Amino acid sequence: MTTGTASPALEVRGLVKRYPVKGGLFGGGRVVHALDGVTLSLVHGETLAIVGESGCGKSTFARCVVRLEEPTAGSVLLNGADITRLGARALRPLRRHMQIIFQDPYASLNPRYSIASLVGDAMRLRGISGRKERRRRVAELLETVGLGAEFLDRYPHELSGGQRQRVAIARALAAEPEVIVCDEPVSALDVSIQAQVINLLKRLQKRFGIAYVFISHDLSLVRHISDRIAVMYLGQIVELADTSAVRARVLHPYSQALFSAAPVADPGATARKKRIILVGEVPSPIDPPRACRFHTRCPYRQDICAEKAPELRPVEGRLVRCHFAGEPGFPPMPAQEAAMHG
Ligand code: ADP
Ligand code: MG
Repeated sequence: MTTGTASPALEVRGLVKRYPVKGGLFGGGRVVHALDGVTLSLVHGETLAIVGESGCGKSTFARCVVRLEEPTAGSVLLNGADITRLGARALRPLRRHMQIIFQDPYASLNPRYSIASLVGDAMRLRGISGRKERRRRVAELLETVGLGAEFLDRYPHELSGGQRQRVAIARALAAEPEVIVCDEPVSALDVSIQAQVINLLKRLQKRFGIAYVFISHDLSLVRHISDRIAVMYLGQIVELADTSAVRARVLHPYSQALFSAAPVADPGATARKKRIILVGEVPSPIDPPRACRFHTRCPYRQDICAEKAPELRPVEGRLVRCHFAGEPGFPPMPAQEAAMHG
């Protein structure tokens, strides 16, 4: 499905989001640099994963892209139409093309409404006005996501976590979107249920040609299901590559640390692989490290890394934000279990 010539379903250009820090000890005009110039695009039917430690801006990205929040700068284009500054009225007819699924389906499904009305609402917005017709179509959709028509008159609290996430998926599908932003869609589910929901998402993608932005901290899952992977660190993309390229090798020291800590399905690969332990927390996004944001934790840092911000640039068929990527033998495989500077 991933064809280079197809016009992108979603295009994000230079997205910036800053939050003012309110009051308190650290307030007073300071800002959280949650997103700092994120650019990427998504073609129809592909899965682009976004990975990175907690706090690096993944959810902020998701909320800004679907316009649940206003980006500070940058733009979001949906099927070529710039939706960044559209008001609510102009946005409404375009909004259905892009849906979002959250980690916690408890929080995203209003407990006072039945499944029939939760899913049916999205259809009413699409102009399917007859109540009976909507009910018939909701039943059909429930079938599509693996729930029977007996769920129509149930309420979210009567459902298991997995069933609720299926309802959330049905509600997203009711809008017939081309893009679904999935923010950690299975992280809150039992491990035994996760694979079922992932398989459902893959099946729906095949059937309807939906493109996913798939946010996850589960790197082995991401390696398994995505076409491309964007690695984020402190509000910036540090590496963006085809999944096959990531499987072979990552070029940013942060990607190297992140992926070396993840279990790999192939046990031979694990034996060959050296682990790099990321020490310390992600630095605060209120005063992020200047120049290269990763330099404070990078085992390979040089003087330039604290002086000059690296651009996200093409290296070996991918994009990498590191001064040294592309130099022979960089990043070196650590000689032994190496600890990153905390
Ligand atoms: P992730 O989803 O990768 O864990 P988030 O996007 O949730 O990261 O958060 C990125 C940064 O922005 C964090 O430092 C977080 O504390 C901050 N942040 C997120 N939402 C807000 C908000 N509404 N106000 C202030 N800071 C926020
Ligand atoms: Mg998040």
